[in-house]
Amino acid sequence: MGISGKYEVVIGLEVHAQLQTESKLFCGDSAAFGGTPNTHISAITMGHPGTLPKTNKKAVEYAIKMGIACRCEIEKDNYFARKNYFYPDLPKGYQTSQHTTPICKGGWVTITTSEGTRDIELNRIHLEEDAGKSIHDWEEAYTCIDLNRAGVPLIEIVTEPCLHSSEEAYQYVTEIRKLVQWIGVCDGNMEEGSLRCDANVSIRLKGEKKLGTKVEVKNLNSIRNVKKAIDYEVERMIAIVEKGGTITQQTRSFNADNDTTFSMRDKEEANDYRYFACPDLAPFHLTDEFINTIKAGLPTLPNQLSATYQQDFGLSAYDAAQLCDEKATADYFNETAKESKHYKAIVNWITGPIKQYLNDSGLAIGQLKLSATTLAALIQLIDDGKVNFSVAATKIFPVLLQGDKQPMQVAEELNLLQVSNSNELEAWVDEAIAKMPDKAAEYKKGKKGLIGLFVGEVKKLSKGKADPKVVTELLQQKLN
Ligand code: ADP
Ligand code: MG
Repeated sequence: MGISGKYEVVIGLEVHAQLQTESKLFCGDSAAFGGTPNTHISAITMGHPGTLPKTNKKAVEYAIKMGIACRCEIEKDNYFARKNYFYPDLPKGYQTSQHTTPICKGGWVTITTSEGTRDIELNRIHLEEDAGKSIHDWEEAYTCIDLNRAGVPLIEIVTEPCLHSSEEAYQYVTEIRKLVQWIGVCDGNMEEGSLRCDANVSIRLKGEKKLGTKVEVKNLNSIRNVKKAIDYEVERMIAIVEKGGTITQQTRSFNADNDTTFSMRDKEEANDYRYFACPDLAPFHLTDEFINTIKAGLPTLPNQLSATYQQDFGLSAYDAAQLCDEKATADYFNETAKESKHYKAIVNWITGPIKQYLNDSGLAIGQLKLSATTLAALIQLIDDGKVNFSVAATKIFPVLLQGDKQPMQVAEELNLLQVSNSNELEAWVDEAIAKMPDKAAEYKKGKKGLIGLFVGEVKKLSKGKADPKVVTELLQQKLN
């Protein structure tokens, strides 16, 4: 057992997801990403005296959606608290957050790693507002502040300290990202910071019950960086402990230029934020009716859908997972499956030529100009033996993307229809046999594997238009 086998890694993740509401959490200012700096700000965002915030109902609804998707218990009696601290990007001098009553409690998210499937327990999901942005590289001598983001609604999804490897962390964030996008509460864009992750990491000797001292790596802005930051931290901590040192509780930051972390501040004692209930915001009560309406409006979740695909459509777990990677992909599959029973063929098209085309052209599946009906017709054309898959993918598919032609029409216009008329085929078959008399003799003596050679020759002679199934039958008749 190596050094790393002596220790158990413990990780707890905090994911902040910006809710894709039109307006901010407590006022009508735009919650859109970017914009000319300091244009999405009113007196309420700035916390001017005498202004009155009002809770955005849509944000509450989105938080509940995520809670239901993660099987959390929904808190009915909520209030907002002020978390007081000073920072230049926090105009009010406090962040409005939830303190003792997170809107969602408990719950879990199922992940799959190379070790199998596991439920990652959640501690809570709470609602809070985002802060503004400090920009350090615009002016040499100054830091610039853009408050457009201040007050944008966030949910913070907090796990128990129950993850045990960077791979689990990677899969967990992948799953959260997929879920928020799936149910439409967050765009999941990590580059723009709509989804950010703080990783809390500690190590302890295997078998030890007490948690080790943790460090918190802040603001990881890609799933790969979550993994890299944890890998680096675990190695750093083991090295310290192996040398007889002790871990100091710290807040650290990840440097993506060299995949290391560095200390931002030591965190010897907990900050005192002097939380108190916000006097400007009335506590709010959620009725069963409100919660049930939200529940009823949720789409089928990816895990459930994947199970359905396997049970009802006979797809493999791998294929089902590929379809459930993104809701728009699953929707497209569902549409096509209404018109064609060739489920496996639909998957092959979606994960093959369609995916390739979307990647190459930088488009999302929602922008694909190939209707489910047309794809179903194309699949039928192949099943009927009119064209083969390769011709369909390389010759017909690109034309279908250009406009509203039908697959059969394109196949006719481009003269691509396979010939299964046996008179024409017979001529090619005879020609192929005549070309290779010695191979024909060997075949007759029992070298049956040579059939492929003749099929290939007929394919060549017919310029790919001979139906291989019929050709094989004809060859067998003639050669035997
Ligand atoms: P804090 O008050 O520092 O934010 P919390 O108790 O709220 O700490 O936990 C924040 C996150 O850190 C949670 O995801 C939790 O699971 C995780 N966490 C807490 N203690 C540890 C630890 N010793 N090792 C790893 N993760 C931890
Ligand atoms: Mg924290």
